[in-house]
Order: sequence, then structure tokens, then C-alpha cells
Amino acid sequence: MRTLIITGIALFLGCIISYSQDDVDKNGSKKPTISRTINLITVTNNIYMFKGKGGNIGVSTGEDGVLMIDNQFAETTPEILNLAKRLSDKPIQFLINTHHHGDHTGGNINMINNGTVIFAHDNVRRRLMEDERRKFAKEQETAFNKKLDKLAKDGNREIAEAKTKGSIRNMGDFTPSVNTYPAITFTDNMTFYYNGEKIMVFHVQNAHTDGDVMVYFTDSNVLHMGDVFFNGKYPFVDINSGGNYDGYIKALSRALILIDEETKIIPGHGDLATKSDVKYSHDMMVALKNSVAYEYVSGKTKEQIIANKDLTKIYDAKGFGDGFISTEKFVGLIYDITKKQYGKLKPRKN
Ligand SMILES: [Zn+2]
Repeated sequence: MRTLIITGIALFLGCIISYSQDDVDKNGSKKPTISRTINLITVTNNIYMFKGKGGNIGVSTGEDGVLMIDNQFAETTPEILNLAKRLSDKPIQFLINTHHHGDHTGGNINMINNGTVIFAHDNVRRRLMEDERRKFAKEQETAFNKKLDKLAKDGNREIAEAKTKGSIRNMGDFTPSVNTYPAITFTDNMTFYYNGEKIMVFHVQNAHTDGDVMVYFTDSNVLHMGDVFFNGKYPFVDINSGGNYDGYIKALSRALILIDEETKIIPGHGDLATKSDVKYSHDMMVALKNSVAYEYVSGKTKEQIIANKDLTKIYDAKGFGDGFISTEKFVGLIYDITKKQYGKLKPRKN
């Protein structure tokens, strides 16, 4: 009897575990639906989007293997690998970084350790290295201050400082880690012939950053736009990383030339989109730039323009300001750009 009960419990638990792992449907076949924190969205019969914390991931599966675009954060790698395994038993051979931001490249090292080869624009590799150097410098500074505080407790700060400097110098200079960055970089475009189709990777200059690429699956008619498209939200233009407002508009225009009404679009953030969504974002950026410029030459201050909710009300009503970039931040950015461009013109006084 006891054995029976134990066997019964084990069988019951076994059912729960296998159910939650495989998400099996009534017919017994695998059902790609929801995992713990990442939603699996079917884009075509062999292209998928992983939507969760961080930037949207694109995945192509097929005869040759798995090609992935972006990889969210380091801590999501196990879940990403599990999901990919559910779609294909082939290895993730190639990965493309759409740009350098941590919510798209955080899992790079894990993926490299998993045997994946990473491709990115030249500036992505450079910026990833710069970020690591900056982190190293910050860690050194923290260690220095900590040590100095400890030694200076005896009251002789000068001796403490000299001692600390000596010991910190011994920590050595920054040497970039080997084999943790994209192995293959490119300046402009590159093409994959993979899983039965031509996949075009093309650089769009100074848009969200200075290392953005879009990835177009020519037969499947699927475009991954990286963070050059925030679907339904005001976009983040990372001026400190070579991003540019006008460049962003140009990049959206370039995408609009390439795509048609049937194209399925994976945005950097937000839901799977269509051409009309991209067009809406493009037109929003153009319209807001024009209206802020008009306000500026009319002599309005930054505060007055930000306070004028009429400028953005149609977009705010659709939730554009509820994302990473608030309405105030976005209008403030447009004001700063406008001031730079129109700076020499004298605002009209009424
Ligand atoms: Zn980004």
C-alpha cells in the first residue's frame, strides 16, 4: 500500500513536471506558448520572437541550425536556451547584436561559452569594450577609496594615500577579457545564406546608437529593427552613444522603403508590428520635431514647451509616454536638438 501511494505521488509529480516543461497540448504535441518570464511568439513557421525582460529576440530555425538576434540579459540565458531547444534540436550557431546596450547583449558571454559565434557592427564591439573599461575604472576607484579610508583611520592621510596608490597600481591596467566580445564585426552590411533564405544585415547610421543594424529575412519577409523601433512608445535616442534624432527618422524611412503591408516586424521593444506601426512612429517623430521647432522660434522656453500637453496629446492617449522614455523627457530632447539646430536664429518676440 505504502509503495503504491509513493508511486502514485511520484507519477502525479512527474505529470506536473513534464506538463510544465513541455507545455503539451491535447494531441500530445509540443505547444510553443508561454514560459516563465519570456513569451514565445510565432512569427512565421520557422521564425520566432522571444518577448520578455529586455529587448525582443528574433530566432530563425531550420535545416542549418539556429540563428538568433539579441539575447536580453545574462540571467535570462538559461531560459532562452531552453526555449530555443524546444524549437530546434540544432545548436545556436550564429547570433547578431543589433547594438551594444546591455538589455540586448547581456547574455553575450554565456552564448559564446555555449559555442555561438557573435556578429556585430564595429562600433558595438568598441562600445562593449569601453563599457568594460569604464566598469574596471569604477571598481578600481571604489577599491582605492575603501583602502584609503581604512588606512587613513590612523590619522596620517598622506602616508595612507601613498600606500593606497602603490597597492592599487599593482592591480594592473585594464586588459580586455579575451573571447567575450563579438568575434566577427563589420562596417556596413553583411549577408547570411541560412535556413534556406537570404538574410540581410544592414547598418543604419547614427540612429538609436552608432552601431545599429536591422536584420531582414528576405523570403519570410520579416524585419528585426532592434531599438530603431519602439513599437507604440517614444523612442530612446542615445545621444551619448552616437544616437541622433534625424538619423533615427532616416533609419525608419529606410525600413519603410524596404517593407510592405505583409512584412512582420520585430521591434526592439513592444509587440510584433506591421508597416503602419513603423509609419506611425516615423510620422510622430517628424511631426513633433516640427511643432517643437515652431514653438521654439515663437520664443517659448523649454519649460513652456514641455508643459504644452497639446503637442503630444494624441500620442500620449495611445500610451506613447508610458514606456522607458516619458513624454517630458522626449519633448525635452527634441527641444535640446532644436536649440542646437536653430540656435543662431533669434526667437521671434510677439
Ligand atoms: Zn537600446
